[in-house]
Amino acid sequence: MAPSLLDSVDGLRGAVAAWRADGLTVALVPTMGALHEGHMALVRAARTLGERTVVSLFVNPAQFAPDEDFDLYPRNPADDLAKLAEAGVEAAFMPNVDAIYPPGFATTVHVEGVTAGLESAARPHFFDGVATVVTKLLLQCLPDVALFGEKDYQQLVTVRRLVADLDIPCQIEAVPTVRAEDGLALSSRNVYLSAEERRVAPRLFEVLSWMAAALAQGAPSADAVSNGRAALTAAGFTRIDYLAVCDAETLASVEGISAPARVLAAAWLGETRLIDNVVVNPVG
Ligand code: AMP
Repeated sequence: MAPSLLDSVDGLRGAVAAWRADGLTVALVPTMGALHEGHMALVRAARTLGERTVVSLFVNPAQFAPDEDFDLYPRNPADDLAKLAEAGVEAAFMPNVDAIYPPGFATTVHVEGVTAGLESAARPHFFDGVATVVTKLLLQCLPDVALFGEKDYQQLVTVRRLVADLDIPCQIEAVPTVRAEDGLALSSRNVYLSAEERRVAPRLFEVLSWMAAALAQGAPSADAVSNGRAALTAAGFTRIDYLAVCDAETLASVEGISAPARVLAAAWLGETRLIDNVVVNPVG
């Protein structure tokens, strides 16, 4: 069955209230649409965690800088709705910009600490936009559980922080990164890659995986990062915004692996910026 299409906060609250009246639990999957198998893994997990699933599709202008790809960002609502219908999702929340940011809107949610560095260095506006829209979506829907991908690892950690700090009564579930067969993390932005760039793109995951193996064997972070940078440049990445080894919870950079860590990167192929990350577990 096709999901109910909701485009207002009142409509969303009404649908959720009706489910609550029937004693049903609710899962929310926030997305910007252009759904691929990565998003659908979140949707499938949501369907196991809640008795009703809402998927929000909203390209959030607040997380794009004026020179970024807000206008270009892929939008395929008809395809998205067909995928959600096939997955058995009950409701799609597709507000327009005014429904989320009505005239006079003046509030920003700003998370300190885990938002410092990494994505913020190149995109200083990004996490305020994400934190503000995620807070709004959680308060609009008040789901029992909301799902986020490990693909956007700093975003996941930021959302966990804001939910804890603002006492939002919602469980946050992480879903592992879904990859193409050659290892490239699925992303709505992969459509920007030329054939040649698409051929090089999986090298990002390959290099991160190789770094994670070296770090787990005791390689110092500085060596892993300098070898990783050289490998990415040799593979054809035109710019590296960051390549870092960080504590998996605090995202503070670490010199060696004594607790679960993450290797995180953002690198460019021509006009396309790819991000990815992998886990590093201490050996023994
Ligand atoms: P987006 O539409 O890019 O804002 O992504 C919506 C949600 O899907 C976020 O929680 C992302 O982390 C997650 N996501 C995007 N790509 C993937 C992927 N390849 N694997 C798992 N989750 C993903």
